[in-house]
Amino acid sequence: MQVRDYNRNNWFKNRRSLFRLLINALLLISLALSLLTLLQQLFTDSLTGSYFYPLTLSLLVIQYFVHRIHLSWGGAVAFLTMGAGSISLALVSDDIALAYLSGALLPVLLRFVLAQKWVLLFIPIWLSLLLFIHSYRVQEELISELYTHLITLSYSLLVYGSVAVLFNRIYSLVFYKECKENSDLTSEFIDNYQIHQHFDWLKNKNPDGVVRVYGVYIKNILDSVGKSSESSIEFKESVTQFNQLLREVCPAGASIGRLDNGVYVLMSERRFWDAFERGLRQLKKEATDLSPIVVSTDTPNDSTDLDSALHNLDTVFVRATKEKTDFARFNLKDRDHLNGQTDIQSYEVSQAFANHEIQMFFQPKVDIKDNNRLVGAEALVRWIHPEKGLLTPKDFVDLLESSPYRLTFINSVVEQSAHFCETMKQSGLPISVSFNLSANDLQDLRVTYELSQVQEKYGFSAGELQIELSEQETDVSLDNLKRSLDAVKELGYSIALDDFGTGMSSLAYFQNLPADTIKLDRAFIKDIHLNPSSEHLTKMVVYLSKAEGLTVVAEGVENASEADRLLKLGVDQVQGFLFGKPMPATEFLQYYGLELVEDDV
Ligand code: C2E
Ligand code: MG
Ligand code: MG
Repeated sequence: MQVRDYNRNNWFKNRRSLFRLLINALLLISLALSLLTLLQQLFTDSLTGSYFYPLTLSLLVIQYFVHRIHLSWGGAVAFLTMGAGSISLALVSDDIALAYLSGALLPVLLRFVLAQKWVLLFIPIWLSLLLFIHSYRVQEELISELYTHLITLSYSLLVYGSVAVLFNRIYSLVFYKECKENSDLTSEFIDNYQIHQHFDWLKNKNPDGVVRVYGVYIKNILDSVGKSSESSIEFKESVTQFNQLLREVCPAGASIGRLDNGVYVLMSERRFWDAFERGLRQLKKEATDLSPIVVSTDTPNDSTDLDSALHNLDTVFVRATKEKTDFARFNLKDRDHLNGQTDIQSYEVSQAFANHEIQMFFQPKVDIKDNNRLVGAEALVRWIHPEKGLLTPKDFVDLLESSPYRLTFINSVVEQSAHFCETMKQSGLPISVSFNLSANDLQDLRVTYELSQVQEKYGFSAGELQIELSEQETDVSLDNLKRSLDAVKELGYSIALDDFGTGMSSLAYFQNLPADTIKLDRAFIKDIHLNPSSEHLTKMVVYLSKAEGLTVVAEGVENASEADRLLKLGVDQVQGFLFGKPMPATEFLQYYGLELVEDDV
């Protein structure tokens, strides 16, 4: 069997391919002879040659084991018909041994096709049935009619099955040829269906049932899927070379799969993990031009079935790309990511904007030094999804930001925040309203333009609108960031450094960017009254901010003990569930006992 051959040499590989070729040739000959026999039997009523049916069946079984591939529907039908044909003919010629053989082969075969052990239970059922028929066979007259029907049925199935097999062969030959020319040689490897078959086979044959699934991702190939006819000859050649290399570095006999989206999939039981990993490391060393990213996940440890394992691989791949690593294994970070994920499709985004499902909620900010007076609000986006309910930014902001609706989204955030600020002013309780923008957003001149338009439209005085800039990882240089912040400050926006202390560049941001406010992340606020190190850090930030004349806001305050401690430490403003959750504009006004004044802006 293939897996046993992993560490053998090329000589063995060649012998094995010869063996495969031989089996294929024998199978084709036997299939042809079976068809001839069938024709002969139809016209001459002779039973000569009926031994070809069980022979074909056996060869199909052998081929199945050698290639360990799935049989297409035509192949499966052929199996059944060859089986049924050989059984009935064996009975007609009164050869019970042959009938037994064929009868036993069928469930064995089905067990592997279906990868379900219970199918084997059919062996005794089959054999008893055959015995039963045979015992009646002796009293020929009684069941001769039943027999005739059985044989007629077998014949028709046999014809149907054979035609189906031939059709499948011709179809795959013609179709795969075309695929091969147009696509990047996908057909060289086992396909999605066969990958599933192989997985089931490995899982069942292993004593511990653990299968490691590897994914090999190549960015150029992933990008080229679906437009392969446009790919250059050089690209096709480099893919062909890569395929060759992949085969060489993998343990001999490994089944290599290729999904429709261009991802290579390999699977291994525990004892071959080292061999696979050595090979894949070598692959990365040698295929530098295509820079493959190799990721892996284990079943049943990380996921119970193959589909979830493949989904895991995609998650690890996205993380590996972000972390700029090219060999990664599924870990707890990936599990957290998957747990927190809501499956949003991009087509839903367009609907969302059309139906005004994307709305800003507002969370109060209060001055703790002035009796918790309301001084501001942060605009936080929510998606009121018709089926999935209220979605928070982690479920969809990344998707929005990478969609064609990115600018529509940002403009809507700015406009809704400005509108709310104006509404509060009109209602007699003017406050400052902040909204979140990323460093990349601020580099986009279209965003800066929108900021200037909004400012012109409402004519706010300086600081009434505030931009919260998060410390998330960014490619934007500090210099560029500073320039764009200077520009928006010119327009009248104030700047808050959001999630302060969580990123890598807090102090550099603090020193170089024209910030007005520091927002301490909830990570330092949670249980601050019980955690001396959070307290020291807050004290330090308050000290630095005061020295520079900045306002300090603490985020995520949930209880009075935290608020008391923050007041003692000199924090200016607080925001958190203790003072109000993020809420829609109308609810916010009600919360503060305000009437909505219709305005003409
Ligand atoms: P952020 O700007 O730091 O927002 C504060 C987050 O803390 C909000 O989560 C808020 O609901 C949550 N929060 C507030 N008070 C408490 C509390 O007492 N306890 C706890 N556990 N959480 C509290 P949310 O709304 O899920 O937003 C998460 C992040 O998504 C925001 O962090 C912000 O970075 C981003 N975000 C929100 N709205 C927008 C937006 O319009 N545009 C962009 N680009 N990002 C946004
Ligand atoms: Mg924020
Ligand atoms: Mg924050």
